[in-house]
This record gives sequence, C-alpha cells and structure tokens, in this order.
Amino acid sequence: MIPVSEARDRILAALHEMPPEWVGLENARDRVLADDAKAARTQPPADLSAMDGYAVRAEDTASGSAPLRMIGESAAGHGFDGAMGAGETVRIFTGAPLPEGADAILIQEDAEATGDRIVPKDPVASGIYVRKAGLDFSAGDIGLPSGSILSPRRIGLLAAMNVPWVPVRRRPRIALLSTGDELVRPGEHVGRDQIISSNALSVAGVVRLAGGEPVDLGIAPDEPDALARAADGASGCDMLVTLGGASVGDHDLVQDVLADRGLALDFWRIAMRPGKPLMFGRFGEVPLLGLPGNPVSALVCAVIFLRPAIRHMLGLEDTHPEIRRGVLATGLNQNDRREDYLRSSFRTDEDGIATLTPFSRQDSSMLSVLGQANALAIRPPHAPEAKPGDPIEFIALDGVA
Ligand code: AMP
Ligand code: MG
Repeated sequence: MIPVSEARDRILAALHEMPPEWVGLENARDRVLADDAKAARTQPPADLSAMDGYAVRAEDTASGSAPLRMIGESAAGHGFDGAMGAGETVRIFTGAPLPEGADAILIQEDAEATGDRIVPKDPVASGIYVRKAGLDFSAGDIGLPSGSILSPRRIGLLAAMNVPWVPVRRRPRIALLSTGDELVRPGEHVGRDQIISSNALSVAGVVRLAGGEPVDLGIAPDEPDALARAADGASGCDMLVTLGGASVGDHDLVQDVLADRGLALDFWRIAMRPGKPLMFGRFGEVPLLGLPGNPVSALVCAVIFLRPAIRHMLGLEDTHPEIRRGVLATGLNQNDRREDYLRSSFRTDEDGIATLTPFSRQDSSMLSVLGQANALAIRPPHAPEAKPGDPIEFIALDGVA
C-alpha cells in the first residue's frame, strides 16, 4: 500500500498538458488560458472625461478670471471637432473625449451657467476628472498571463482588450466506465438483486467541476470480453476511469482483463480509507485510473486523485483541493495506518473558526451521509486519539463535489 501523496504524485507525473484550442469569449468562461493575452488596443483610446461638466484649461479657472465662453459640446462617441482656446470651454459628458486644448473637467455642480457664460465656483486643478489615454491598459500589454482561469471579470477584460478569441487548454476527456452485473441506470427497470448505478453520474460532476469533459462509456457486465470491449471505447480520450471491479473478489475483473490487453500497471492499493483498491496505470496510450466501486469511495477518490489529475492536465499549478484548518466538535479514536477522509459537516463561526463534526457512520456505501456532508476531515496515518476542540485539517466539498 502506498501513501496518498505518493499515489497522487505518481498519477500527476504520468500525465501531460492538454493542447490548446480556440474559443470565442462567449464560450470561454472557466477555461484556462493557454497563452498570454495581449491587449489589441489602448484603453481609454484618448483622454476622456470621467464626469458631466465642462472641459476647461485649468489656468483659465484661477480666482478673478473672466467667465468662460462655451463653444460646443463633446459627448461619448461624438467628440468636439476643433480646438479650445484661452477663455473657452466645451460642454462635456462622461466618457466623451477631451477637446484639444482642455486639460481638466469643471464638474457641472461646481459651475454657474448662464447661456454660454460659464463661471467656475472654485479654481480647477489640471488633470482633474480626466481619464488619461492608456490609463487602463495600452496596446501590447499582457492583460492576462497564460494559465489564468477565465472568470467573468477576466472575460470582461479580454473583451475590452478587443480580443474576441482566445487559445485555451482543451478540456481533458475523461471516459467513465461503470462495471458490475448488479447495476442499472436510474429510472430503468430494476431486476431482483440489482441496484442503481450512481458512480458515473457523481464522478462526472467532479470531472466537470475540475474542468474536464466526462464521456460515459456505460455499464460493463462482469464478463471479460464485454469489459474489454467497453474499455476500448476510451481510445481518443485523455484518461479512462473505471468504477468498481478493482479489488480482489472473483468478480473484480478490471485488472486481469485489461492486463491481458496491454495494461501497464503502475500501482494499486493505497493506504487510504475510503478507497484502498485504487489502481493507476496506462491502457495502451490512455492513462487508466481505477476507482473503487463503493459510491463514497469512488467520489472521495475522485476528489483526491481525479480532480488534481484534471487540473494538472489543464496546466494549473494549484491542483490539489485546498486544505483548511478547523477544530473538532467531537472526539475521534486513534487512526490506523490508512489516511482517513471522514465525511463531516462544518460550520464557520463569526470569528472565522470552522468547527467540524464527523458523522458517526462512515460506511463507504452510504450516500445519505455523503449527501449531508460538506467536508472531508483528514486523519493522517496513525493520528492519535483526538478530543473535542483539537485541531483538524479538512477539505470543503462545495465547488469540488
Ligand atoms: P466492486 O468494486 O465492483 O466490488 O464494488 C464495490 C461495491 O460498490 C459493490 O457493493 C457494488 O455493488 C458497488 N458499486 C459498484 N459500482 C457501482 C456504481 N456504479 N454505483 C453504485 N454502486 C456501485
Ligand atoms: Mg463489481
């Protein structure tokens, strides 16, 4: 049995970065930029007014100056043609270009206007309420570096930079193959001795949240040829994830069947609970991750191994789920040699302290408990007995699984 961290390192080391593909900004949300994005123009393109008022030459507004004479108007999208001379002013609105000769804005609240005679209530400083050309960015600036995740706020920036298409990492295609004679899909006829297959759907969600694209290969029965045929469906995908059939029971076929057909096994069995029968290798060209069949084990292992794998393929450095710190609400027994991920609920109090309550029932088949949990409390191998109030590390599940 190898430790969790070593298993994860070995998985990541075997994977390569996805090639880029081009997407329009309307489809770019949450994608990972595959190259530096450079501004195609300068913003603002010229000096613009930040307020409604009058474009002035600051020197004309000193106390004792003569009233200014308004000679025209500049609105957003419709600048004033011509230059402004000494003693002159131009009515101006937010976003409008400054007329040539002007260097400041007298806001309308600070002006007394009678026809075309404008009197500043106070002197105006040069540059005030002017957004200089290039204040935001200049053509050629790197607005976003390669590897940026394209959140809505960053898509706004790309749009302003007049970059309508961007190269992003292709989403890794993750083939999901459920195994087991007992499984039927939700909503289908359920025979005697059958249960509903939940893993492909829950793990597909983890894949999507991590930035991958799930490809459901369906349910293979516990029969060698059928399993092998179903696994062939993964060619062209970036990873094959098998669900179930990974332990050593007579009907756990994945390892044997795929070994006969070119599986190069890296490791199987890890020091983790839930999730001991985790398997990793390469099936032909395709990396293969074998997840345990128990639904809780499958989902927890997807969070701990598959999510980092997908994020690594996307070229992200921040691959692992964030480890947070909290305190235990209840005591825990001493741990054995397997790293334990306890389904828990946590709340954060007004001081920002998270209190974790591990559920008393931790059976790896129990989706009802997993459904109530919003955290996995981490118990390292051989962790000593813990009392209420003791510190504990955890992974928050919202946004992850
Ligand atoms: P296995 O690893 O195939 O021995 O499966 C371990 C346990 O998980 C068994 O009780 C299976 O019935 C169950 N199981 C396997 N695959 C799924 C699935 N896709 N959905 C729900 N339960 C499953
Ligand atoms: Mg099975």
